Amino acid sequence: MKAKLRILTLAVALCAGLTLPGLAGGDHTHKATPKGGRALDKTSPLAELVVEKDRSITINFYNPEMKPVAVTTQSVTVIAEGKGGKAILEFEKKGDSLGSKTKLPEGEGYNLVVQFKQTPDAKPTNLRFKLQTNACGECKRAEYACICGH
Ligand SMILES: [Zn+2]
Repeated sequence: MKAKLRILTLAVALCAGLTLPGLAGGDHTHKATPKGGRALDKTSPLAELVVEKDRSITINFYNPEMKPVAVTTQSVTVIAEGKGGKAILEFEKKGDSLGSKTKLPEGEGYNLVVQFKQTPDAKPTNLRFKLQTNACGECKRAEYACICGH
């Protein structure tokens, strides 16, 4: 009996593994967030990363109806892999959102690594994407926050 169960578990695990790449195919499209930033995958409440005009970063949070909610236990660190070296941006609470204490390095086209923690004890989720602030020709959002999927 036990052996049979184990085989079943393995089969289920294999199936799950096989369907995952299919789901990840839609990875290039992101939810449209109210402030024009990039929705951070797998966050709940949904976190939105916004690169401000002064190159600081704001993280906003939304419920499923896209109504703003206040930050609670979440924390974020952003690592910018700029041409002149890595810059680490720490965040602090600014009203209902998180704001970076420092600004992004000059230039763009470099990678950003977002380390997101839901609670202080949670394992961080790492999200990586390129910083491109030029407007997308189709959805008109900044390229780093493009929702039309190209
Ligand atoms: Zn687009």
